[in-house]
Amino acid sequence: MSPPDLSHISTWVFDLDNTLYPSDVEVMSQVDRKMTDFVARELNLPHEEARKVQKDYWRDYGTTLNGLMANGQVRSGRDFLDFVHDIDHSVITPDPQLAAHIRALPGRRYVYTNGSMKHAENICHHLGLTDCFDDMFDVEASGFQPKPQRSGFDLFASRFDVKAPESAFFEDSIRNLKTAHELGWTTILVRARPGPRDEESAGPEDHPEHVHYAVDCLKTFLSTAKTRDKAA
Ligand SMILES: [Mg+2]
Repeated sequence: MSPPDLSHISTWVFDLDNTLYPSDVEVMSQVDRKMTDFVARELNLPHEEARKVQKDYWRDYGTTLNGLMANGQVRSGRDFLDFVHDIDHSVITPDPQLAAHIRALPGRRYVYTNGSMKHAENICHHLGLTDCFDDMFDVEASGFQPKPQRSGFDLFASRFDVKAPESAFFEDSIRNLKTAHELGWTTILVRARPGPRDEESAGPEDHPEHVHYAVDCLKTFLSTAKTRDKAA
């Protein structure tokens, strides 16, 4: 099989969670539990009911936070984000290989996350990726219009002057890649490893039509991809 041709790409956009680290690293499972705790506390609900509200909001509003905000059930988005991202980061280990691959990509490189800036900084710090990106864009920067909302993508694109035909987006979420595809970006789905996974992440067999490349390992993909300087 010929290597993926990304020689037209000069803007590299990465989702954070379950994309820059493998899905079996216990980060989102911790965040997920903290979200249930938050909903239970704020809405004064038993754990089981809080969990249902959390998941219903995720499905209906894009994120649990957006559901809480739309229903006037949270004082500020930041309260929620600070609470749910207060997790044990020792489960994340540095990934110097990934850092080298990302640094070698020609052009501009960004993180685009539905989490908070503090969360993105913590994760990147523990992965050893802090100096790999030109900038990061969090859910506050998107005006709490999380992926997959088109309006958030538009804000991201205008903030960094992103031109669709030159942009590649790496994500573990199929629905987030759909918007990127509609915008004309090159889409790369980073699939979860076999086993239990975040409900948003794609599984080992998934390769929907709006995804240009579906990969099981981000590092392998980046090491084999033909990029602008490698193509010369
Ligand atoms: Mg993700």
